[in-house]
Amino acid sequence: MHITKTDYLEYTFCRKNLWLKKHKPELFDGVELSEFEKKIIEEGNIADEAARNLFPDGVLIEIVGVNAVPMTQSFLATKPSTLFQGAFLSEDFFVQADILRWNEVLGGWELYEVKASNDVKREIPNHHVNDLAFQKSVIEQTGLKIVKAGVIHLNGEYRKRKKVNFNELFTIVDITDEVLEAQDGVREQMDEMKGYLASQEERGCECLYRGRNAQCTTFAYSHPDVPEYSVHDINRIGGSKKLFYDWIDRGIYALEDIDNPEALTGSKKAQYNAYMLGKPIIDHEAIKEALDELTFPLYFFDYEGYSSAIPCFDGFGAYEQVPFQYSLHILHEDGEIEHKEFLITEPTTDLTLSLIERMRKDFGETGSVISWYKSYESQRNNKLAELHPDHTNFLESLNDRMFDLMTIFSKDLYVDARFRGSASIKNVLPVLVPELTYKALNVQKGDQAVERWEKMIDPNTPKEEKEQIAKDLLEYCKLDTFAMVEIYRLLKAL
Ligand code: SF4
Repeated sequence: MHITKTDYLEYTFCRKNLWLKKHKPELFDGVELSEFEKKIIEEGNIADEAARNLFPDGVLIEIVGVNAVPMTQSFLATKPSTLFQGAFLSEDFFVQADILRWNEVLGGWELYEVKASNDVKREIPNHHVNDLAFQKSVIEQTGLKIVKAGVIHLNGEYRKRKKVNFNELFTIVDITDEVLEAQDGVREQMDEMKGYLASQEERGCECLYRGRNAQCTTFAYSHPDVPEYSVHDINRIGGSKKLFYDWIDRGIYALEDIDNPEALTGSKKAQYNAYMLGKPIIDHEAIKEALDELTFPLYFFDYEGYSSAIPCFDGFGAYEQVPFQYSLHILHEDGEIEHKEFLITEPTTDLTLSLIERMRKDFGETGSVISWYKSYESQRNNKLAELHPDHTNFLESLNDRMFDLMTIFSKDLYVDARFRGSASIKNVLPVLVPELTYKALNVQKGDQAVERWEKMIDPNTPKEEKEQIAKDLLEYCKLDTFAMVEIYRLLKAL
């Protein structure tokens, strides 16, 4: 069994998870990566390739995996100045290094790891340091000397203009000192990891002491005695360590077994009470007050946004959201409802201008704009105003008129235990309006919409497929805003 750099990093995040992956892979059968997770991997590969532009003299080992080891040795014999994806195997540990660059002055190799992340204003995280210390350790055991280590990450302040300037897009940070300092500890961890993976399965796992959001799909396997709805589902319970740990230490997993509910406060208490009552707890007065503030017509509005590690559109930077679509349901005071929508099907250099121009036609000058998690929509409006200053007044007025329907749920004015402490529309909608479902749609989630849009604008996608994707995207976004209309109507009728 080879232990890769990814294995090592997984071990540092959760050793039990790594053990299960190696010894009981069947537990992960049917657990597919989400489109979001797939995109993270893909973006990592794209950033890796793009960073090679910084070293035009580099040679690439095109094979992936241990078979690349002999080829790496042959390439090294030719004394290349830069090697991409050099592969090294030592004592069962395997690494394939993003970039190795020969340093004539220091008489050794510089080792660089490409990270598709925007760390520009933050410190280099420990796991990046450990990652490089792991690679350095394995490579040096094969006889190469590493004289420098660094991270190449995306510069969050860069904005694309015409062609991507890779020298400006990437930032190189020298972390040689940090790596040297971490190396002994990492070496110890590597030995420990070997021993751990060769040992018997440990009982349970650490997520018994963490909230549901931190857990992976194997939690139920490791903790069969924890009920499906448990204290782990209480909103942000991981933050109330003293109380939560006490329950776990005393074997209190079910909400029914909590013997000190008076210790709960705020949202946690509201969720517990709703659970124990078996019905929602609704603050009718506060909901009425909030909705009475709204002015007709009501504009239920939602953007879909695209982002990528290597910016594709002028004026945008790495991972900056590019709004490519919106849906708008307009509810008039007499109950009449209209639907408007827009989708960018053929991106142009100034792609968001057409979107704003349509918005100006679709929005009237008065009336509340309703969104779910309004900071997303208002941040997109701010960005559009930055790109198109002529439309600033219009976009700012939308923000001024914006009401966040999510606050009814995030402020506990309507608490249903089945939301599991979340105010996301994906948790609220199936409980309040179960007949409105995304299940019948070809696009069911935001990350899927992003992947589909990318496919649709690809010049190589056949015309019929593009048309089908456009239809699917419009249906998906339409349901997002119609869901808000239905939730609004339900709240209004309370
Ligand atoms: S549930 Fe948590 S601790 Fe357990 S294996 Fe998964 S990630 Fe690791």
